[in-house]
Amino acid sequence: MPELPEVETTRRGLEPHLAGQTILRLTVHDHRLRWPVDARLPQTLAGQRVEAVERRAKYLLLRLTHGTVLWHLGMSGSLRIVPSALPVELHDHIDLALTSGHTVRFNDPRRFGCVLYVTGDPQAHPLLAKLAPEPLTAAFDAEYLWKASRRRRVSVKQLIMNGQVVTGVGNIYASEALFHAGIRPRRQSRNVKREEITRLVTAIRKVLNQAIRVGGTTLRDYVNPDGNPGYFRQKLFVYERAGEPCRRCGTPIRSFTQGQRSTYYCPTCQR
Ligand SMILES: [Zn+2]
Repeated sequence: MPELPEVETTRRGLEPHLAGQTILRLTVHDHRLRWPVDARLPQTLAGQRVEAVERRAKYLLLRLTHGTVLWHLGMSGSLRIVPSALPVELHDHIDLALTSGHTVRFNDPRRFGCVLYVTGDPQAHPLLAKLAPEPLTAAFDAEYLWKASRRRRVSVKQLIMNGQVVTGVGNIYASEALFHAGIRPRRQSRNVKREEITRLVTAIRKVLNQAIRVGGTTLRDYVNPDGNPGYFRQKLFVYERAGEPCRRCGTPIRSFTQGQRSTYYCPTCQR
C-alpha cells in the first residue's frame, strides 16, 4: 500500500511534468473506483492549466486554474507519466492527457483509489479538513506529541499510527521510528518520557525522509513506460525481520501482534 513517502515521491515525480501544462483531455476507462468518477469530470478539466502539484496526507492535490483535483492512490494505485500514444493495459483506469504529448496514467488493480474535483479551498474539503498535522512540518514537534501522549490510554505505537494525532505514519515507519528512538512499541504513551518523545519525533522525520530519498532515486522511472511506479524499500532495521539479528547489537528481533498488526522490535536496543 502506498504510504506517505511513496505519495510524496509520486508528487515529486509528477510535478515537473505537470506544472504549467494544460489538460488536453481526461479519459476514464473505468469509473468504478472507491467512489464513482463524476461523469462531468472530463468536461470540467479540459483546458485547465495545472498550477502546482501538492500533497496533504496521502492525497495528491492537482491545483488547476479553477479548482483542485484530489487524487488518492488507495491500496494499490500508482500514477505514471507515459507517452499519450502508449496503449492502455489492464487496470489502467484513468488517463490525463497533457498538451506536452505526455499522459498521466492511473493504474489501480484493487480500485480503492479516488479522483475528486473540488472548487474553493481544498483544505476545507471534508476529507482533508480534520486531518492531523503532517509529520514533516513544524506543527509536528516534541511539544505537540508530548501533549497528545498525555491525553490517551494507548500504546506509544498506536499513538503515532493514529491519524488524528499525526498523518501518514504507517506500520513500517512506526516500527522503524520506535527502533531508532529506543522505545518499545507496547509502552503506554503516557509513560514515555519527555526526552524519549523528542527522540521519537526526530526518528519519525528521519525514517520518512530517508524513504523519500530512496524513492527519489527511482524518479526517472516516471517517464519510462515500462518503469516501476516507484515503490521501494529502504534498509529496514526491524520491520518484517523477526528472528533475524538486530543490525545494531545482534540480538534476534522479536515480533508480536498489536492492534491486528505485526510489530517488530529489538529487546536490547528498545526499552
Ligand atoms: Zn538491537
